[in-house]
Amino acid sequence: MREQLHRLETEVGAAKADLPMGLSGVFLTHAHIGHYAGLIFAGHESAGAKKLPVYAMPRMADYLSTNGPWDQLVRYDNIGLVPIRDGVETRLNAYLAVTPYQVPHRDEYSETVGFVVSGPTKRILFLPDIDDWDQWDRDHGHTIEAMLAKVDTAYLDATFFDDHELPGRDMSAIPHPRVTESMSRFEGLSRAERDKIRFFHLNHTNPARYPGSDAARTIRNRGYKVAKMGERVCLD
Ligand SMILES: [Zn+2]
Ligand SMILES: [Zn+2]
Repeated sequence: MREQLHRLETEVGAAKADLPMGLSGVFLTHAHIGHYAGLIFAGHESAGAKKLPVYAMPRMADYLSTNGPWDQLVRYDNIGLVPIRDGVETRLNAYLAVTPYQVPHRDEYSETVGFVVSGPTKRILFLPDIDDWDQWDRDHGHTIEAMLAKVDTAYLDATFFDDHELPGRDMSAIPHPRVTESMSRFEGLSRAERDKIRFFHLNHTNPARYPGSDAARTIRNRGYKVAKMGERVCLD
């Protein structure tokens, strides 16, 4: 959290003093370690934030409210839970709205969502974790292609490049769409559609995180991009 807040300040300027931790709010995708655990720094022993708005789906909110140490954040009003619902837009101001879309994932403690962030004229899809593209369609009626058509930029789950990354672990038990599989799936799309895709959420084992790797080169050659740390997208 410290590093991320520092990076945010470097990118967009000093935080407003009247905002808790300098943040207008936090949208949670799901209760996996890299996606919510940093919230603990809003707590009494750390920043002691006052009512940091945390936008959360029903199960996620329930989990935070009923399990330590998160429930203390709720009881001490360090965070203020704001309910969001699958497919329902939350309008933050005249320029910005966020809509969660539930996706299939290992939902041990919470449901999992991706977000469509809508600006004045442009939209991005933020989808760090999903088990399988086809299952999204089967379970929730969303095809990734239809979702791509609705946005201008799409940050897509690229946890693993292929099936050979985790020696000693059964990778079929960790179902993210492999980058190789996603690239093949999107092969038939127009150049403009493929151009929207930025692979992100790369596991440390994913060779594509090195721009000079064969994996990263393959991604570029096939018309896709790997997201860069600190990159910004204009929503107008
Ligand atoms: Zn996850
Ligand atoms: Zn994740």
